[in-house]
Amino acid sequence: MRLFIAIEAPAGVLGALDEAVAPLRAAQPDLRWTGPEAWHLTLAFLGEVGEGVVPGLAARLERAARRRPRLDLAVEGAGAFPGAARARVLWAGVRGDRESLSRLSGSVSAGARRAGAPAMNEGRRLRPHLTLARCRTPSDVRPLVAALASYVGEPWTADRIQLIRSRPQGQPRYETLGSWPLRASG
Ligand code: NAP
Repeated sequence: MRLFIAIEAPAGVLGALDEAVAPLRAAQPDLRWTGPEAWHLTLAFLGEVGEGVVPGLAARLERAARRRPRLDLAVEGAGAFPGAARARVLWAGVRGDRESLSRLSGSVSAGARRAGAPAMNEGRRLRPHLTLARCRTPSDVRPLVAALASYVGEPWTADRIQLIRSRPQGQPRYETLGSWPLRASG
């Protein structure tokens, strides 16, 4: 099964972003837009993992989460991969304590590796984002990035991580297999 580890944002945060994105969807319908039900901040992408690995992975993630503090985050601005002039992916940025977020990503990646499911992005710089749209061909999304440049969402405190199964098609596209709390203080 295809797995990733993520932080989810509250419904109100996603709803407000959805309202800001709605006119952009209408302006550029040729992109493959995602919706709020698919928006999450990926900490680690594991790719294909055997089912037998999941119980050990869950135990490792529980331990990693327990050791890392809760995080104050907010959606802010937008950007594109690899760049806005010839983009493949349009995203909304996530503001917060980057250092703590990177450490959390590192901790869950290390836990996943020890469980036998190494993260494909382990050791790479984390670029916290919510994917808003994918481009069928490299596209100029500079006007979309500019339109969202001043967007700032309501801050929220991320208090847990999720282990999510991703399916190529079918419902649900994403299935949460487990969820573990971050440390309450410190
Ligand atoms: P996904 O590819 O399973 O990705 C799930 C999450 O992991 C996303 O947040 C994604 O980040 C992140 N991610 C994926 N690869 C990564 C990597 N190498 N390094 C770091 N993070 C990574 O599901 P998706 O994002 O919904 O779908 C993306 C595309 O893959 C779609 O075109 C979909 O049709 C296809 N897909 C294929 C399969 C399959 O079995 N072949 C399964 C699911 C989806 P981003 O949000 O930044 O992309």
